[in-house]
Amino acid sequence: MPTYTDLDRPAQFLKGVGPKRADLLAKLGLMTARDVLFHVPHRYEDASTVSKIGALEPGMDCTIVGRVVSKGVLPTRRGLRIFQAVVRDSTGLIECSWPGQPFLDRTIARGDLLLLRGTVRFYHGRQFQPREYTVLAREKEEAAEESGTIFPVYPATEGLTHRQVRTLIAENLDDLLRQAKDEDRLPREIRERAGVAPLAQALEWLHRPASLAEAEQGRRRLAFEELFFLQLLYAQAHHRASTERPGIAFARRDTLVKPFHKSLPFTLTTAQKRVLKEIGEDMSSPRRMNRLLQGDVGSGKTIVALFAMLRAVENGHQAALMVPTEILAEQHARTLQKLLDGLPVGVTLLTGRLSTKQWKEVNYRIASGDADIVVGTHALIQEGVQFHRLGLVVVDEQHRFGVKQRLAIQEMGQNADTLVMSATPIPRSLALTLYGDLDISVLDERPPGRRPIKTALRSESSQPKVLKFVREEVRKGRQAYIVYPLVEESEKVELKAATAEFEQLSALFPDLRMAIIHGQMPGEEKDRVMRAFAAGEVDVLVSTTVIEVGIDVPNATVMVIEHAERFGLSQLHQLRGRVGRGSEDSFCILIFGGQGSLERLKVFAATEDGFAIAEADLRLRGAGDLFGARQSGLPAFRFANLESDLNLLSIARGEARAIVERDPELANHPDLREAIATRYEERARLFRVG
Ligand code: ADP
Ligand code: MG
Repeated sequence: MPTYTDLDRPAQFLKGVGPKRADLLAKLGLMTARDVLFHVPHRYEDASTVSKIGALEPGMDCTIVGRVVSKGVLPTRRGLRIFQAVVRDSTGLIECSWPGQPFLDRTIARGDLLLLRGTVRFYHGRQFQPREYTVLAREKEEAAEESGTIFPVYPATEGLTHRQVRTLIAENLDDLLRQAKDEDRLPREIRERAGVAPLAQALEWLHRPASLAEAEQGRRRLAFEELFFLQLLYAQAHHRASTERPGIAFARRDTLVKPFHKSLPFTLTTAQKRVLKEIGEDMSSPRRMNRLLQGDVGSGKTIVALFAMLRAVENGHQAALMVPTEILAEQHARTLQKLLDGLPVGVTLLTGRLSTKQWKEVNYRIASGDADIVVGTHALIQEGVQFHRLGLVVVDEQHRFGVKQRLAIQEMGQNADTLVMSATPIPRSLALTLYGDLDISVLDERPPGRRPIKTALRSESSQPKVLKFVREEVRKGRQAYIVYPLVEESEKVELKAATAEFEQLSALFPDLRMAIIHGQMPGEEKDRVMRAFAAGEVDVLVSTTVIEVGIDVPNATVMVIEHAERFGLSQLHQLRGRVGRGSEDSFCILIFGGQGSLERLKVFAATEDGFAIAEADLRLRGAGDLFGARQSGLPAFRFANLESDLNLLSIARGEARAIVERDPELANHPDLREAIATRYEERARLFRVG
């Protein structure tokens, strides 16, 4: 039960708010006094570096603040209409001029206090040419230039200007802040260790900052709170998953691990060794492992997973590897079999493609414990599959499974350890926010000896040349992908485009074996086409982005991406990872459709480091867009910024885990329990926390 405080009273009881104002506030979503208190500025006008009008010189680029003393629209001989206003501060007057903007006459009035940014010119004397303007106050309103040098600008709505919002909040702020003193849910020690302010202080800084730095300190505190409560939820989920049921303490027997290590024709990378150590410690511990392994395509995750599986098997347990599609399951089973050649370990494949008779047989071997390593699709978590002694579940390409499925997989293992792997590198801040209930390992190093993929950026007009190149590669016996973007909003239109292109290409390449694959095809059909391509029966595969997921066709050396500007960088990276898997030179050709940013694509073309690309993507597009519209699962933070708050996030995570370690159910922290439940209700339910 939330405690009733004065902040719960309807906004109408605030000073300066009547029924009409209350309706307008409601339009902004502000129903209670608390809502108003947390309605913080979305930006600030910094008038602390304002130039005095008396000191302006032609050529200066600066900000000024002054009152409008006269104004009007001036026609010129050439028909251009200019809005002009004379503005005054305590040091002098200057004429400001907006050519071609006569409409400003309706929005700027005499007596207005304006903040103007622009340049000083010489035109019959000094003249100011503003690029931007903000009305800080109207004629009768308080002369805010004396009350502070930073002007908060609030989200407003029709009928209620940002200035009115500012005045309203300013009038009530002291009362509201006094009441906010009881609202602080952050324990003092944590607040101090994190270096963030008490709640009331932070809110004051946000509403009434003496400097932009103060406003930022205010934001930091609220950002920390958002991050901390989410991490607290994750810490509880993590604790529960690892302790709810007893785990298995796998001994270091090395009867399989050692010979396997010896059989490898290469040495492990430093990153692989580090990650194996992290996994090894989890597996030795009697707590259940819940770990995410992130690493680019080709960073050597499979080998790492196999080490872990062998550790389980040599301890008399079984290991399961779960992948999103049947083709991938078959591919993985073959890879593992090859790697295990000569070792007394069996690999069993379980997919939906088995006949009833085979299914029974396989199931029997799984149930009897005969099957050491089982590779399969989600058929693995279907009812009826009974493991004899499952010790480890590895999930590949985990981003293809949602949170719910992931939790179901953890459940399936009874007391087995779980390792989920992702080939989609994401920045650490995002990983901690999306997968905070897991421990995270990162393979951030590529095995040596891989040939770089040549990435080129081409305009649409060079498409004929690109196609000629594709043809040459095919003539050499290679295969190619040509990918079209499929935007969710207009799937039909886009699909038509891909299909039309396919027909055009087929006419252009009558002698080549062409195929198309897209998301609206039935699964079996997609499977059939992919198999044909993998078997080398198709030269050119035209597709929408359905080929993103880890299929391995070493003979494919060309990836052409049409309208590359429509893809996120991380998506492009996934697509590029489809080539460069064999011993031949590989190419990724981005065709730029002319809209959007060429810079982004240049960043992409310049590196093959998936983590660097993901960081750039986060910086350039923001967290929400990073995965495309379809999946994100990201909480909507109001204050936290995943591009810049990694440090704050790490502190939040550390503190959250430390509290939960001492008080797993937060029995001694009712405030924190309540904060989690109100803030992250849905997520808390999903993770059975709170
Ligand atoms: P991922 O699963 O991360 O995509 P894989 O485990 O399939 O990567 O490894 C990609 C390729 O690199 C495989 O052919 C694998 O045998 C090889 N490989 C893995 N680790 C190393 C290493 N340390 N040195 C050289 N080659 C390696
Ligand atoms: Mg892989």
